[in-house]
Amino acid sequence: MESCYLCGGSGAARIELRGISSRIIWFNIHTVQGPVCAGCAEAAYAILQQRTLVQGWWGPLSLILTLWNSVANVVNIRAHRAAAPYVLAGPQSIPRPQVHVRDSASPWVASIAAMAVLGLIIAIVLSPGSSAPRDVQTSMVDSCWSETSPNSLDEVACSSGDADYRVSNIVGDPSQCEDAYMDASGGYACLKPW
Ligand SMILES: [Zn+2]
Repeated sequence: MESCYLCGGSGAARIELRGISSRIIWFNIHTVQGPVCAGCAEAAYAILQQRTLVQGWWGPLSLILTLWNSVANVVNIRAHRAAAPYVLAGPQSIPRPQVHVRDSASPWVASIAAMAVLGLIIAIVLSPGSSAPRDVQTSMVDSCWSETSPNSLDEVACSSGDADYRVSNIVGDPSQCEDAYMDASGGYACLKPW
């Protein structure tokens, strides 16, 4: 029999296991391929299969690969268990070790939580009324102004009843404003009667 290419141990049989970890549009494939002993096969199977279930299905293509590889890994580890006994020092074979990958949450819980976080981030980024800090150039938009004296405006609350204008948008050229405008950082603030 061949020796294990991972640890040099005896009693190895050939196996192919793949783990997939994707990041939406790209994915990595981690492969264990070659003659490995029973202990290394179980360890590689546990690690790669867990990684695939947690990280492998974040994308249409990698989802298909994840499903395919998870099944292939199960088939391949079963074939390996039948082909390579777990041998320590002597000729006697003993039950294979159970390998567990420690993780705070189950793979599916971790995956669902990760998808929920991703969805939340996308919702925040795409929402028009985003709570993200506005940059300086748009901070005046929707603010209301009162004409306290000719050509002099003071900012007031839009609900105050004193407001004469509301800033509709910030533009680079005052001719883009339909009604009125005032100077603003980065351009001109178009004023709509309010
Ligand atoms: Zn080994």
